[in-house]
Amino acid sequence: MIDQDAGTVADDLYPPDRLVTAQRATAAAGLDALLVSPGSDLRYLTGYAAHVTERLTCLVLPAEGEPTLIVPRLERPLAEAAPAPRAGLRIVDHVDGVDPYSLVAQALAAGPVRTVGLGNQMWAEQVLALRALLPAAEQRLAGTVIRELRMRKTPAEVAALRAAGAAIDAVHRRMAEWLRPGRTERAVAADISTAIVAEGHADAAFAIVASGPNAASPHHVASDRVIESGDPVVVDIGGVMASGYCSDSTRTYLVGGPAPAGFLEYYDALFEAQRAAVAAVRPGATCESIDAVARDLLTAAGHGDAFIHRTGHGIGLDGHEDPYIVAGNALPLEPGMAFSVEPGVYLTGRHGARIEDIVVCTADGVERLNTGPTELVTLSL
Ligand code: ZN
Ligand code: ZN
Repeated sequence: MIDQDAGTVADDLYPPDRLVTAQRATAAAGLDALLVSPGSDLRYLTGYAAHVTERLTCLVLPAEGEPTLIVPRLERPLAEAAPAPRAGLRIVDHVDGVDPYSLVAQALAAGPVRTVGLGNQMWAEQVLALRALLPAAEQRLAGTVIRELRMRKTPAEVAALRAAGAAIDAVHRRMAEWLRPGRTERAVAADISTAIVAEGHADAAFAIVASGPNAASPHHVASDRVIESGDPVVVDIGGVMASGYCSDSTRTYLVGGPAPAGFLEYYDALFEAQRAAVAAVRPGATCESIDAVARDLLTAAGHGDAFIHRTGHGIGLDGHEDPYIVAGNALPLEPGMAFSVEPGVYLTGRHGARIEDIVVCTADGVERLNTGPTELVTLSL
């Protein structure tokens, strides 16, 4: 059956001891319970990709005792099909017109609740309703507990990210089909978004196509600018796989030619900085040391001021998550940590470049999950 096949994939990504592990971590953090609403944390903990709506869905995870997933009754069949409920997680449902927060109180009734961790992405109206429900409980962020689990990927999670990386690499390999002078950024981005799904993602998350002077804006939104021969074009693209895991990869292309003055010189420096930062990834190296490798090389080449963002971000069920590869983050890397290495050079009003690979720290070094070349690709006319 198709459903069973899909379930097998989900079960690989959702080890049966995950809720117990999270309960132990909750207790170790000094919290009496976590309350987690729809989003990546809920999906991580239960395998349930719940709708984000005004109707309350909430995992009630006491540090000790039985967890409960509270759901709207009309979504109960969806919740029951998710891995944790299939493995025995109790579901309690509520109907429209009935206060669902009383169910949260019932699910917590077994023990005292002095401190409660609320999911980082919970809506403010829910946070305030829970404050009214539990006026004596100190509210903290559940993310302080869950991030410690999520940033250490299991082999199944790394495999899911590897599949996502291969899917986005396939889109970059086809760039010559779409990226040509005379086309608008918007038209190219639309073609890329179609290809992101065609190459294996469930959804296209974003397609940055930043040409000419727009390449100096790291998060440029594809516009009606017509791409010209000789433009550097930053193409930063990503999607979400059916597994829930994300891809994110940037290449800078030179369309036609010749390159504008100065571009090839700083592209070479960027290429070396990105390669060296990837090569520095190993267990025990700190996140900030990886940032420093890229930044020091670009600074030495005279482009430090043009590198205006951190070197990278973790990736998993969210496109951006811990660990962040940034100055001030002394966290040592461990096997299973997956993140981007994406230095850039941005010359305001002129042009820019970025190179981005997702990598994972292994037992003895690094694995690139984007495996395409990082040399400048010139798309000839
Ligand atoms: Zn990116
Ligand atoms: Zn990124």
